[in-house]
Amino acid sequence: MRKLMLNMDVKEKIKSIQSEHTFKKEIGGILVGAYDAEIECLRLTDMSFPCPRDQQFRFSFFRKTDGHQEIMDQLWEESGHTKAYLGEWHTHDQDTPIPSVVDSKNWKRISKRNHNFEECYFMIIGRIEFIIWAVVNNDIIEIYRGNCNAE
Ligand SMILES: [Zn+2]
Repeated sequence: MRKLMLNMDVKEKIKSIQSEHTFKKEIGGILVGAYDAEIECLRLTDMSFPCPRDQQFRFSFFRKTDGHQEIMDQLWEESGHTKAYLGEWHTHDQDTPIPSVVDSKNWKRISKRNHNFEECYFMIIGRIEFIIWAVVNNDIIEIYRGNCNAE
């Protein structure tokens, strides 16, 4: 499994979600990243935000392809074909986010479908902590835990 690093800009975005988002409805989007050969590490460089067709509910978020695909295409072109789809993110109204049964099922399904990098990554942003998981051999493994207020 590759190491994952978060760009400062992404940390700032997470921090602003935690401070400005009400958590009354879930929001989410895609994670975009690139492989940094110099440090042999995957870099999380961008994240998309809810698009008009997405459905936001108190305890679920359904992302549609519309909007997010255009953002991904643009990043792919702008980066000289180095940035690619890395996975998905959404929020939970919890201090420390815990994936739901539905989340686990979705992540396993998405991991089977996408193979841009070795793994797909899934982030849940809670009120205090945010956690990133990867699906490895059909198991969900925590690979990054951050607390923007502490950094
Ligand atoms: Zn969830």
